[in-house]
Amino acid sequence: MILPAAHEIEIQRMLDPSEIFDQSSPNYQRETHCWAAQKDQHPAIVLRPKSLPALQSVLRYLYASDLDFAVRSGGVGSSSARDVVLSMGAFDGFDFDRERATVVLGAGQLWGDVDRKMAALAPGYATVGARYPFVGVGGSILSGGFSWLSHEYGLCSDPKNLLDAQVVLFDGRVVWASQEPELLWALRGGCGNFGGEPFEINSRN
Ligand SMILES: Cc1cc2nc3c(=O)[nH]c(=O)nc-3n(C[C@H](O)[C@H](O)[C@H](O)COP(=O)(O)OP(=O)(O)OC[C@H]3O[C@@H](n4cnc5c(N)ncnc54)[C@H](O)[C@@H]3O)c2cc1C
Repeated sequence: MILPAAHEIEIQRMLDPSEIFDQSSPNYQRETHCWAAQKDQHPAIVLRPKSLPALQSVLRYLYASDLDFAVRSGGVGSSSARDVVLSMGAFDGFDFDRERATVVLGAGQLWGDVDRKMAALAPGYATVGARYPFVGVGGSILSGGFSWLSHEYGLCSDPKNLLDAQVVLFDGRVVWASQEPELLWALRGGCGNFGGEPFEINSRN
C-alpha cells in the first residue's frame, strides 16, 4: 500500500487480506481498469469487501477520512480515485422469486452475468437490463439504464422495473430505499454514488 500508515493499519483491521489489492496484486488491473483510460487515476489500493458488515465498516471509515475514494461496479463509467477504489465486485447475488416474478441482484456484477444466471435459473424470464454484457449493474441502474426492452418497458430504473434497493449510507447504516421514498426517487437515474446493493428488479416472461 502507498497510503499513510495510520490508514493502512485501520484498513487491515477491518478487512481480510484477500479483500485488499495493492498495485502488485494480479487482481489490481481487473479492478481498476477504466473504459476511458484517461480517467484511470491509478489508485493506491482496491478494497473489495465480501460481506455487508465489511462494506459497512469500510464505507463508514472512508467517508470520515481524508482519502479520495470511488465506488465501482462494472467500471464502464470509468469510476476511479487517487487513493482507494471500493469495488462491489464480490456482491454478485442472484435471487429469483418465481411467484412474484422479481429478482434481487448484487450490484457488483455485469449484465452479461445476470443474463447467464437468468437463462440457467429462470428460463423464459428477462430483466430490463443494459444492452451490453460488459456494463455493470450498479452504475447503469443509477444512471437510468437503457435496455433493448426499453421501448416497451421503459428504463431499468423506472418504478415498474427497479422496485427497491438496499443502500449503505455514509455512516455505515443499511436501509432499503423504499423506507426513504426520496432516496429511492434519487436512485432512479441520480447517477453514481447514490449506492445500492442489492437491487430488487422486476423480471418478465
Ligand atoms: C460502450 C458503452 C456501452 C454502454 N451501453 C449502455 C447500455 O446499453 N445501457 C445503459 O443503460 N448504459 C450503457 N452505458 C452507460 C453505462 O450504463 C454507464 O457508463 C454506467 O455508469 C456504467 O456502470 P458501471 O457499473 O459499469 O460503471 P462504474 O464505472 O463502476 O460506475 C459508474 C458510476 O456509478 C457509481 N457506482 C457504481 N456502482 C455503484 C454502487 N453500487 N453504489 C454507488 N455508486 C455506484 C460509480 O461511483 C460511478 O460514479 C454504456 C457505456 C459504454 C461506455
